Amino acid sequence: MRIDLISLFPEFVAQCAGFGVVGRAQERGLLSIHGWNPRDHAEGNYRRVDDRPFGGGPGMVMLIDPLRAAIRAARAADPAPAKVVYLSPQGRPLTQTVVRELATRERIILLCGRYEGVDERLVAAEVDEELSIGDYVLSGGELAAAVVVDAVARLQEGALNDAESAVQDSFEADGLLDCPHYTRPVEHALGAVPEVLLSGNHAEIARWRRRQSLLRTRQRRPDLLAGAGLTAAERDWLDG
Ligand code: SAM
Repeated sequence: MRIDLISLFPEFVAQCAGFGVVGRAQERGLLSIHGWNPRDHAEGNYRRVDDRPFGGGPGMVMLIDPLRAAIRAARAADPAPAKVVYLSPQGRPLTQTVVRELATRERIILLCGRYEGVDERLVAAEVDEELSIGDYVLSGGELAAAVVVDAVARLQEGALNDAESAVQDSFEADGLLDCPHYTRPVEHALGAVPEVLLSGNHAEIARWRRRQSLLRTRQRRPDLLAGAGLTAAERDWLDG
């Protein structure tokens, strides 16, 4: 997969993506990240990329032309069609379902705003989708882009050493939260590992994990239960 970043600080995202699973995905050739700085496409001595908003008010707005030129340069760098995603607090909420959809694409272009955001005409003409990483406002789209890169990279086939681990994560196949996990030592001042996990009985372990997932989801995110496709027996068990 190829990800192009349109950003005033593309190296920021590249740095974030240099570690762990995402770094390994790049080393394994599963993912490549390319930065495009609109300032390199700006004109004049000052290479201006922003200007004051029409109508007055605080802050600056990113200019159309440097962004458009950067997007065009990114598009031209590879023949594969690219979806342009603008990271924005006003966008569709980023969920694991959205991440899965993005991860299947050959390439995406992530547009990072700064200041008050980008000129709306650029959004209307060049952006295919706006995505938000949550109901709060960041000073720039770079952290949001790094979140997208990380979430998408770990789903590339071969990025995780054990592909099963992604399938068992929260929000995955069954839409529930993941079960709790334990490791050595068995006995600790903070408590003991649940006995069933030491039993070697795989059917019992799977049953325990499923029930823990159900309980956690009910306790922390009951909104997820509706779409989780629970069996009648599981519903009865939760209600009982
Ligand atoms: N004036 C904008 C608004 O209220 O909708 C906020 C602009 S914000 C200060 C600057 C940039 O940060 C945005 O253009 C966007 O790229 C990014 N950004 C801020 N919060 C974000 C969020 N929750 N998700 C994704 N991107 C975000």
